[in-house]
Amino acid sequence: MTVLAARPGRLRDRLFEAVTNVLAILLLPIAFVRRPGNAAQLACQWALGLRFPAENLDGLTVLAKAAFQAARTDAFWCDGQLIGLTSGHRDAAEQHQLFNDEVVRTGSVSAARRHVLPPEESTHVKGIAMDVRPVEGARWLEDNGWRYDLYRTYDNEWWHFEHRPQNPGQAPRRLPHPGWTSRPYLVSSGETTR
Ligand SMILES: [Zn+2]
Repeated sequence: MTVLAARPGRLRDRLFEAVTNVLAILLLPIAFVRRPGNAAQLACQWALGLRFPAENLDGLTVLAKAAFQAARTDAFWCDGQLIGLTSGHRDAAEQHQLFNDEVVRTGSVSAARRHVLPPEESTHVKGIAMDVRPVEGARWLEDNGWRYDLYRTYDNEWWHFEHRPQNPGQAPRRLPHPGWTSRPYLVSSGETTR
């Protein structure tokens, strides 16, 4: 039953994938006129923008954005894999609100920190974190992201990747969840009200 129930969504995704691929091919000549040296990336960017209209890459650092664009261009043209951005850069106020909402939802600061970090610790606020979709796209990035210094950093978040160019080709240690290293027992509950 589960398999049958999952099938319509999967079929829809495959259809979107096929349409996006066709669109990118159709857009390629226009992209070539606009940017002869990088038409493949531009056509991919346009097609993915139509597939994931709500995504917003603004606020990512220049290097993180370039790495993400390069990775998803290769995923798209080499393996036919679509990678969309669910959430990239967030400003401190937005992150603060997300964190507070999570504290309310989970009932404690330490439980909230397993899913959302406060602004001063969040890599989304720093502009180097990307939440991606769908699962297949995330899997591609998990396998190939090292070529672009993009790494999955938490066991409990298949969608969360970070740009870590400090040690090229060397994956940072993957943590069980956000907040793992920041000594949660020292965090006071007052943090939620600031
Ligand atoms: Zn994230």
